[in-house]
Amino acid sequence: MLQLDPFCPHDQIILFGRICAGCNTEIGHGRFLNCLNAFWHPECFRCHACNLPISDCEFSMSGNYRFHKSCYKERYHPKCDVCNHFIPTNPAGLIEYRAHPFWIQKYCPSHEHDGTPRCCSCERMEPQDTGFVALNDGRKLCLECLDSAVMDTNECQPLYLEIQEFYEGLNMKVEQQVPLLLVERQALNEAREGEKNGHYHMPETRGLCLSEEQTVSTILRRPRFGTGNRAMDMITEPYKLTRRCEVTAILILYGLPRLLTGSILAHEMMHAWMRLQGFRTLSQDVEEGICQVLAHMWLLTQLDSASSSNVASTSSSASSRLEKGKRPEFERKLGEFFKHQIESDTSPVYGDGFRAGHQAVYKYGLRRTLEHIRMTGRFPY
Ligand SMILES: [Zn+2]
Ligand SMILES: [Zn+2]
Ligand SMILES: [Zn+2]
Ligand SMILES: [Zn+2]
Ligand SMILES: [Zn+2]
Repeated sequence: MLQLDPFCPHDQIILFGRICAGCNTEIGHGRFLNCLNAFWHPECFRCHACNLPISDCEFSMSGNYRFHKSCYKERYHPKCDVCNHFIPTNPAGLIEYRAHPFWIQKYCPSHEHDGTPRCCSCERMEPQDTGFVALNDGRKLCLECLDSAVMDTNECQPLYLEIQEFYEGLNMKVEQQVPLLLVERQALNEAREGEKNGHYHMPETRGLCLSEEQTVSTILRRPRFGTGNRAMDMITEPYKLTRRCEVTAILILYGLPRLLTGSILAHEMMHAWMRLQGFRTLSQDVEEGICQVLAHMWLLTQLDSASSSNVASTSSSASSRLEKGKRPEFERKLGEFFKHQIESDTSPVYGDGFRAGHQAVYKYGLRRTLEHIRMTGRFPY
């Protein structure tokens, strides 16, 4: 700040010529600030965020805007989407955070090791102020995924019909009646171990196409979510599979959103179709790859129909936690995510298999690709 002597003619000339850079009027007598190569009425030197005068000696700039240091931090320093605190700087003084590649959820690196749960469907981390629901088998589900989740065997039957129609539309009708059962994680893993040569998706199996006679614990009635968002009152029942053909049942993990359940189902149906059509045992990448191609194709039909008609899905679960208008929007985003997951899978079996199969179908069509697989056990190049 300058000290001015009002009786010094030189100073007065300068003083009366000075214009405040904030309000563009003459500064006149009284206090003023000299900063950023300009003069200001103290009340005109304001923060761009809160609009209050800045009287501290230190302030922050962004472009031509001035901020209180605290207001600047509030606006520009990234906050963690999990704990809602500012993301801490690392020992090198840099702000280092993790972000989910699809959802762009930002979080402190520490949450990767501090036991913060992720949604078993969309993979987002549980924010500390919004509880996810806990399924009986240790999985957690976010409320948005819960909204379209398929929770029991009965509830899944309309979706099963849709997938059957999808296969019929491709001229690949599955003639045999294969039971579809929704199960818990443990029942799925047990059934997997009961198969002689099962294909399964690491790290977590979400669906199975069974060939052996087994007894499976199926979910008869969906759970309610009680205090602390815990699942309760779920009813399961043993279901004895009998072998009438090459496929005894399709099992799907319960509690996943309709679009994920449907894409897993489309995948498992392809295993069933090939087995019933008498395809030989294929290498894993061809077998899983072509099944992923069908899952991906089904997802595309869902995304297309959502964008053309903008009609909400036919899922019957709809425990309407969100307003009606919001649901299709999130469901669509979720569909994009599942599609992205299939496309960007890094595993040699599911990922590379999908990409090779997708390319073959793009080039030769599904029918010719399948014929080629049947004859040679390989994708056509
Ligand atoms: Zn002013
Ligand atoms: Zn401010
Ligand atoms: Zn955090
Ligand atoms: Zn989720
Ligand atoms: Zn598979």
